[in-house]
Amino acid sequence: MSNNSTNAIIHHEHCKDIRNILIIEDSLSLVRTLKESIIDKLGIVSDIATHEVQAKELMEKTPYDLAIVDLNLPDSSGNFIGYLIRKKMGVIIITASNNDDVRKKLTSLPIIDYLYKTDKNSIVNYVIKSIQRLQKNKDAIVGICDDSKLIRRQIGQLLSHQNIQYVEFENEKVANEYIKEKKTIDLLITDINTPKMSGLDLIRKIRQEYSAEKLPILSFSSSGNPILVAQILKSGANDYLSKPTNNEEFLTRLNISLDNSRLHSANEELILKLQESSVKDFLTTLHNRNYFHSVVKQIQSQAQRENTNYGIIMIDIDFFKKVNDNYGHDVGDATIKEISNILKRSARNSDVVCRWGGEEFLILVPNTSMQELSNFANRIRKLVEQRDISTKDGLINFKVTISLGMALSNKTNVSNAENIINEADDRLYKAKNSGRNKVVYE
Ligand code: GH3
Ligand code: MG
Ligand code: MG
Repeated sequence: MSNNSTNAIIHHEHCKDIRNILIIEDSLSLVRTLKESIIDKLGIVSDIATHEVQAKELMEKTPYDLAIVDLNLPDSSGNFIGYLIRKKMGVIIITASNNDDVRKKLTSLPIIDYLYKTDKNSIVNYVIKSIQRLQKNKDAIVGICDDSKLIRRQIGQLLSHQNIQYVEFENEKVANEYIKEKKTIDLLITDINTPKMSGLDLIRKIRQEYSAEKLPILSFSSSGNPILVAQILKSGANDYLSKPTNNEEFLTRLNISLDNSRLHSANEELILKLQESSVKDFLTTLHNRNYFHSVVKQIQSQAQRENTNYGIIMIDIDFFKKVNDNYGHDVGDATIKEISNILKRSARNSDVVCRWGGEEFLILVPNTSMQELSNFANRIRKLVEQRDISTKDGLINFKVTISLGMALSNKTNVSNAENIINEADDRLYKAKNSGRNKVVYE
């Protein structure tokens, strides 16, 4: 491997999409449930074989990515698993026997996983979860830091059976530089070499930048010293394994760490989306009242601090009920969107444009004067008045107008936005009562 860490190669050739699945199992009721669940949960239609011979025939026609196979088939030839492995497909084995010899043999095979034939639901759940994980693993990159090339290769092999991409680091320095410059990895596996102890430094350095959820670290060491183990975990490693490691335990812990990390980022995304949607109006994507209340304090303080004024413009579409009555609710919705776009486009970045209610809008304008505010309000009024609202098919064409009431903060009411809103609202009412399509500011 090159000394230039950032040139480290990401091994990904072994990774594949799981598209074609073959279930090889003679218990028909299990096969049926498995097939149905895989369609239901993953949208993949898998093929079925109840015998080895039949499976081999199907494999002639289709290159399968994954085989879910019963270890004890009626026409078992004894070397069928070897045959599947040579075909370079991922293999998940279902076995009825749980004695140690079988387990040892299975864990030494280059397969994805094996599971015991327990109740049908448990098997189906486990298989579905495994496939989902394989699909996600394809996009995961794991860093392997170990000074032994042999160990890196062995771990790389194990990862490749799990459909995981990997990159090798021959020492902590290389790993650290790579992560610092690229951070393309999703998890780091690192050997803690007792004499040098630089492994602990690496963990600490990574933790200064990345949390345990953002970049999980799986450490292993040949020292069974419990004090070292505690130190490793306190330095920020997510998990620890003693060397020599048991492959099955290693893969299980690796999967748990990756699953947790994915769950964490999925949750973060979800929270972000929720936060966004809680302050946004769905129809227009304008801000909603919640957002207004969350920023108004800040704008009040700014006005007080800088001795400036902020303005409020209340806007209501004129005779909007007629739009709904004449053209239907969908055209009504489209009209609200059209007006929202005009408001958005006319406003400055610092203005807060909100959908206040059904066909009512509020614009909060920081750092402004009565003159600026009334120019702004009149500009919007004209833009709406000139705008042709039309349906996509061009069959319906009409115009709408808006009425606006505005008010400016002053020294006495600057910290009472409610008061200014009421004032603007009263003026909007005046605009409505004095002919509509106008701006009222006193
Ligand atoms: P005015 O000039 O006095 O404001 O008359 P108006 O008809 O606009 O006022 P009114 O308050 O009588 O009617 C407003 C209508 O807006 C009633 C309501 O059904 C409709 N509306 C409110 N929200 C929506 C919406 O999201 N979509 C549609 N299509 N219509 C809505
Ligand atoms: Mg109206
Ligand atoms: Mg209204």
